Amino acid sequence: MDFSFTDEQQQIRKAVREFALKEIAPHVASYDAEGRFPKDIIQKAAGLGWMGGIVPPEYGGAGIDFTTQTIILEEISRVCHCVACALSFPSGLAGSAILRFGSEEQKQKYLRPLAEGKVFAATGVTEPHSGTDVAAMETTCRRDGDHYVLNGAKAWISFLDVAEWVLTFATLDPENPRKGICAFLIDRNTPGMTFKAYKHKLGFNPLTTGDVILEDCRVPVKNRVGEEGQGMHVAMCAVENGRLGVAARALGLAQACLDESVKYAQERIVFDQPIGKFQMVQSMITDMVTSIESARLLTYRLAWVKDSGAKQARKDASIAKMFASDTAMMAATNAVQIHGAYGCSGEYPVSRYFRDAKVFQIVEGQNQLHKALIAEYTLGFRRD
Ligand SMILES: Cc1cc2nc3c(=O)[nH]c(=O)nc-3n(C[C@H](O)[C@H](O)[C@H](O)COP(=O)(O)OP(=O)(O)OC[C@H]3O[C@@H](n4cnc5c(N)ncnc54)[C@H](O)[C@@H]3O)c2cc1C
Repeated sequence: MDFSFTDEQQQIRKAVREFALKEIAPHVASYDAEGRFPKDIIQKAAGLGWMGGIVPPEYGGAGIDFTTQTIILEEISRVCHCVACALSFPSGLAGSAILRFGSEEQKQKYLRPLAEGKVFAATGVTEPHSGTDVAAMETTCRRDGDHYVLNGAKAWISFLDVAEWVLTFATLDPENPRKGICAFLIDRNTPGMTFKAYKHKLGFNPLTTGDVILEDCRVPVKNRVGEEGQGMHVAMCAVENGRLGVAARALGLAQACLDESVKYAQERIVFDQPIGKFQMVQSMITDMVTSIESARLLTYRLAWVKDSGAKQARKDASIAKMFASDTAMMAATNAVQIHGAYGCSGEYPVSRYFRDAKVFQIVEGQNQLHKALIAEYTLGFRRD
């Protein structure tokens, strides 16, 4: 296996790292504390072509490969994974669903401005009574002439305050939801769609999250993504790209935990010596280093599999997402421990990393689901 990056990829990593340190690092603590979406910073990064991701240039994208996209997300996430989340959207669930299943009109009208960083979007999959079990959704759609009428609610939807449109899902058949699921693009100002933001969530604070409520919401037939009843397939094909993005972001966060821990363990003097001299602190550092290196290999391996043209890589996506987010949680726990009381203050970033790391174990499929999926693929109960 070739583990090297090209010269161009190494230059991109360097440029992204410099951008993150100069443009994001001085502001991240304050916008996180205020729960403010760093729109200007994201649009600046988009202006450098870092939001276009894998989307082809004819749809406003950068046309880069998954490996390069992963480098961008990892480096941005070493400073702020919420900025990286916004940058991942055109290549993630929302963008790749349109890219693979959308009409030419949808690609120009919805994907292009998203990939150019002119607008933001949301994906509404989770419902109050169905998170992991997506197919058990209760939101319904019925055809009425050249429209569908949608009723129901989506829960825990990110980018609620800034999304110009929502990619969401509803079923034609409440008795057997899986069979009738359709995917839709709904413009923000569509009558019948309202939003309710949550307050005081654990982490991911710059991203507003909440309910999307659909009450007799009329959506034009031309806004359906893919065929009638193909919605589950649309979601499941696109989710792989979302999981690669989450793995890259969790990896960046884990690396940030290590960076901060190394610095602190060298500086903090206890019993007349830097705490890094204590073997039990060294043990925590070693656990972080080995897991982060493993998470990095698994994440870039998934990117490489996708760059090699694999149509599906569900097992690899579950392995990378689960391992990278578990590593982020372990690294954040160790980082707070190494910082002692200061790890519990806002003075150092590790308390923010700790709050955010937990969320990574839940989003894009919680990790118990991934553990089950990996076993089922291995046992032959499931196939790509
Ligand atoms: C900050 C944040 C942002 C989010 N943003 C979005 C978004 O933009 N769009 C969106 O659609 N959703 C979003 N979500 C929702 C997220 O995707 C769901 O929370 C996640 O899919 C899990 O669903 P749930 O919370 O309903 O958990 P449930 O499905 O109720 O599961 C609860 C727990 O039960 C256990 N469990 C469930 N099923 C299994 C199983 N098969 N095997 C073993 N154990 C199991 C697990 O421990 C799991 O954590 C967001 C969530 C958060 C916290």
